[in-house]
Amino acid sequence: AKEGAFVVRDSSQHGCYTVSVYTKALSRVDLGDIRHYQIKQKGLSQFFLAEKHVFNSIPEVIRYHQHNAAGLVTRLRYPVGPMGKCVPATAGFSYEKWEINPSELSIMEELGSGQFGVVRLGKWRALCKVAIKTINEGSMSEEDFIEEAKVMTKLSHPKLVQLYGVCIQQKPICIVTEFLENGCLLNYLQQRQGCLKKEFMLAMCQDACEGMEYLETNGFIHRDLAARNCLVSKKQVVKVCDFGMTRYVLDNQYISSTGSKFPVKWSPPEVFHYNKYSSKSDVWSFGVLMWEIFTEGRTPFENKSNSEVVDEITRGHRLYRPHLASQTIYKVMYSCWHEKPESRSSFAELLEEIKIISEND
Ligand code: ADP
Repeated sequence: AKEGAFVVRDSSQHGCYTVSVYTKALSRVDLGDIRHYQIKQKGLSQFFLAEKHVFNSIPEVIRYHQHNAAGLVTRLRYPVGPMGKCVPATAGFSYEKWEINPSELSIMEELGSGQFGVVRLGKWRALCKVAIKTINEGSMSEEDFIEEAKVMTKLSHPKLVQLYGVCIQQKPICIVTEFLENGCLLNYLQQRQGCLKKEFMLAMCQDACEGMEYLETNGFIHRDLAARNCLVSKKQVVKVCDFGMTRYVLDNQYISSTGSKFPVKWSPPEVFHYNKYSSKSDVWSFGVLMWEIFTEGRTPFENKSNSEVVDEITRGHRLYRPHLASQTIYKVMYSCWHEKPESRSSFAELLEEIKIISEND
């Protein structure tokens, strides 16, 4: 059901071929529509779909229309293969901006590993340090991610970990992002217990809030905001990472709200009950992130199981005030945990509140 998904098939007219294309563009219902175009032949070895664009072979016709609609309802974007598998139309063709040529990457030491696989330090064009995340086969719905990566590479903000692009020429595919010298925020906090100033903690909250405000403005939902998904730069700037990535995870323990890896302790009621994500569900998680920062990396609801947390939150209980957080700071994080999403502040509002506190304290 993707715009521009297509097959080339035998036509009902013997010896001819037809291209069938899926489109939502002309359909009045959400289900979409399939358009069929017979490949016409001129002489013995000339083929075309649009009379003005004639080629010597059918593959050439297809390749042309992968880049140009030229009279078709849409360009041919996704060849649909056996068993319904799709290959991105760009695979094996020219490099687009979001696609990184693997020959331009050199791989260095391992940085860590996560849900999708190992993350390594690398260099792009021998100049720029990058983080290269290898995606273990079967851990991600890759086609959907690759499609989204085109949008995600366009998101750019100093408080977001920049996605540079993806290498899809070989398997396993890998994701190339900005490299941050000080690694994961959660480890950073835990390793510096007792050493961090409160002003600095608030500045870290402000960094994350700025990144999140940018996502909110762009209508992009993070879905898994937490200290483990933030990174710290050489200059101790916090940047938000892994935004939107949970949508591509293939692991039921992670996706299902009753699964052991589901981030219940960072989730509002509408998420753990109904999977209803929004910028306001991100706001709830941001409150928990503030709590993680001000407890120097403690686990929220430390000794409670996920189902106990669901019970407690449903009964109106919330995380306690960390000793290092003033009443005003606690008020900000607490305001993120309003039961009703619409009663929570927006990131734009939270940012203003945080700025006022840091100016006055
Ligand atoms: P997860 O899937 O658990 O969120 P990731 O795959 O994003 O984990 O990352 C695993 C680990 O690799 C992180 O905890 C961090 O230590 C390291 N890492 C990931 N991305 C970067 C990066 N861009 N810069 C520096 N270190 C990174």
